[in-house]
Amino acid sequence: MLRVSPVPGNPTPPAAPWLALQDNGLARSRQRASDTRRQHDASLPRIWHCLACDWQITSEQERVAIAGDSVYRRVNPAGIAFEFSCFGAAPGCRTVGCETGEHTWFAGYHWRVALCGHCLTHLGWRFRSTDDRFFGLIVQRLRFAAPDALH
Ligand SMILES: [Zn+2]
Repeated sequence: MLRVSPVPGNPTPPAAPWLALQDNGLARSRQRASDTRRQHDASLPRIWHCLACDWQITSEQERVAIAGDSVYRRVNPAGIAFEFSCFGAAPGCRTVGCETGEHTWFAGYHWRVALCGHCLTHLGWRFRSTDDRFFGLIVQRLRFAAPDALH
């Protein structure tokens, strides 16, 4: 006898602990008063997800300007062009490999590869100097969503 299985729906994206901070309005308190680079807009609580698996990577509140810009287009030594946005933190990323200053796009910063913490897609890089760190995440490998759209 044949049984009709329920139609698989979209799986609920895994919840990240930091998303809870968004939901109860504490995100605002995470902004450090001393960090003048941070561009905070509480009216747009949007989340950046991995395009490949929907894992929550970071939020719009984490976007930072580095040397005056938060979006860069750079070409690596292999000739591949990347457009990436800069974020002060990306809790959904996992960094791998050895940190290096070779071919760095930001003077004084070393970098490591940053992967999606869930599906391990290459999402960008983490840059670190002696007193600063940020993530450069490839725009085409992410998508936006409002937190309310997840429920
Ligand atoms: Zn992913």
